[in-house]
Amino acid sequence: MRTVEGHSDHVVVVGAGLAGLSTATHLAGRGRSVTVLEREPVPGGRMGRLDLGGYRIDTGPTVLTMPGLLEEVFAAVGERMTDRLDLVPVDPAYRARFADGRTLDVHSDEERMARSITDFAGVEQAVGYRRLREWLARLFETEFDRFVAANFDSPLSMSLPALAGLTALGGFRRWDRKVGEFITDPLLRRVFTFQSLYAGVAPDRALAAYAVIAHMDTMSGVYFPRGGMRAVPDALAAAAEAAGVDFRYDCAVTELERSAGRVVAVHTARGERIACDAVVLTTERHRAYELLGHRSRRPLAVRPAPSAVVLHVACERDARIPHHSLLFGEAWHTAFAEIIEQGRVMSDPSLLVTRATAGDPGLAPAGRDLLYVLAPVPNLERGEIDWDRTGSEYAGEILELARRRLGAELRDAEVLRVITPADWARQDMLAGSPFALAHTFAQTGPFRPANMIRGIGNAVLAGGSTVPGVGIPPVLLSGRLAADRVTGRQRPNTGTPTSGDIAVRMRK
Ligand SMILES: Cc1cc2nc3c(=O)[nH]c(=O)nc-3n(C[C@H](O)[C@H](O)[C@H](O)COP(=O)(O)OP(=O)(O)OC[C@H]3O[C@@H](n4cnc5c(N)ncnc54)[C@H](O)[C@@H]3O)c2cc1C
Repeated sequence: MRTVEGHSDHVVVVGAGLAGLSTATHLAGRGRSVTVLEREPVPGGRMGRLDLGGYRIDTGPTVLTMPGLLEEVFAAVGERMTDRLDLVPVDPAYRARFADGRTLDVHSDEERMARSITDFAGVEQAVGYRRLREWLARLFETEFDRFVAANFDSPLSMSLPALAGLTALGGFRRWDRKVGEFITDPLLRRVFTFQSLYAGVAPDRALAAYAVIAHMDTMSGVYFPRGGMRAVPDALAAAAEAAGVDFRYDCAVTELERSAGRVVAVHTARGERIACDAVVLTTERHRAYELLGHRSRRPLAVRPAPSAVVLHVACERDARIPHHSLLFGEAWHTAFAEIIEQGRVMSDPSLLVTRATAGDPGLAPAGRDLLYVLAPVPNLERGEIDWDRTGSEYAGEILELARRRLGAELRDAEVLRVITPADWARQDMLAGSPFALAHTFAQTGPFRPANMIRGIGNAVLAGGSTVPGVGIPPVLLSGRLAADRVTGRQRPNTGTPTSGDIAVRMRK
């Protein structure tokens, strides 16, 4: 495996999102002196926060899976996650509501889920679910260490037996079809394939290998941190700081100083020059390349993932609304085609509604709820929608739809904030998408933009634009992979779960 050339005693990490926090913590645990430079006043990046009139809003991710990976980051500096973070299991993980009015509670526990499925679609589908579960577990085990949590120097560095194993499991077939071998009920199938949207690809186009996301989502448990999602970056930053990492906030990086093919110092908007032995960039790929003066040699332009409109809504408390609701429209394949291919908003939208106050009522004033409504929409490259002009009207439509599909009044509802692709673009996100690059075949594994750059000996990339990909578990892993590029591969500290342990634990 290629690693940075020369000394790596002092590493500058650009960005204190989850990838930057993971990188910094792993490096500190391996004895490196680390400085983190973050342009915002707080850590978290896309795992963002907003405080409005007594509401503590999460602006980014709401579905937290694979806490074992977070545990691994804390353990890198000899800490225990539970000493810094109070994670509560979300049960049911989701409630799926279909256009015909039927509902299905998604449980990670096999027996409870099988019962839920029997009630929803009959015993045969429940038998299929048990087989699907077995397949997902095997897929996860085959893929995780060898493909997801692995650095590749080129496609040729993939292990042939591992590739053969993945092929035998059908990993290179289409996700929707593969799940269809186990589950024939088309509505039920959506519960195990909608996650392809997290990968930025329609279920009938996505590689079955990405069904590992369904494993994380429907089998390994969904969690919520007390205090809201911001508790995660706050806890990681505190652990890193206790291990000696120097954090500098409100500190935008403007330039990298290079000499003889190496980055020798990082310059900031505050006029500082910070000398370094190596640098890890967790900014979006285009910004990282710009800072490095690198031009991509890819024959085709990269493909950004679809985007999202997110509404933050305050309303009277209604304990009947679960933590996460998947509100499915009648349309399915056409809905994906509209946002991914045609660049239009969905004519019959499917939505994710999260009631964070179900997990922690303290996130809103007494008697009030805080709802987060996410509608997938085209990115700005695919769809020419003037969001600044049409965003609030669209938000109104989405809220009405959510109200109808939830079957809840949402009394005294007040839209606190609407975030559209135009807002994501203003935060420097490629094509106004907060989900970076789609996980198409050409942007997967060794074909995804790599985390080292040819011609620059001591720069490493981490975060959603590089390997392994987008989402909380992948970007935490990307931090570990970046640390491996700096120090060489190291097994996690004693007492830390290895990926294999995590796989076993998550299967239980
Ligand atoms: C609306 C939304 C919903 C999501 N839902 C989920 C979900 O439910 N589950 C899930 O697993 N994932 C979800 N995700 C994806 C997940 O949040 C991201 O993949 C992950 O947080 C990205 O982390 P990162 O560290 O790669 O990037 P970022 O969080 O963007 O971190 C990069 C950091 O670099 C800083 N930076 C940029 N430029 C500079 C500069 N020049 N100088 C200094 N600092 C700089 C930025 O301010 C930022 O803090 C969601 C994301 C969004 C936005």
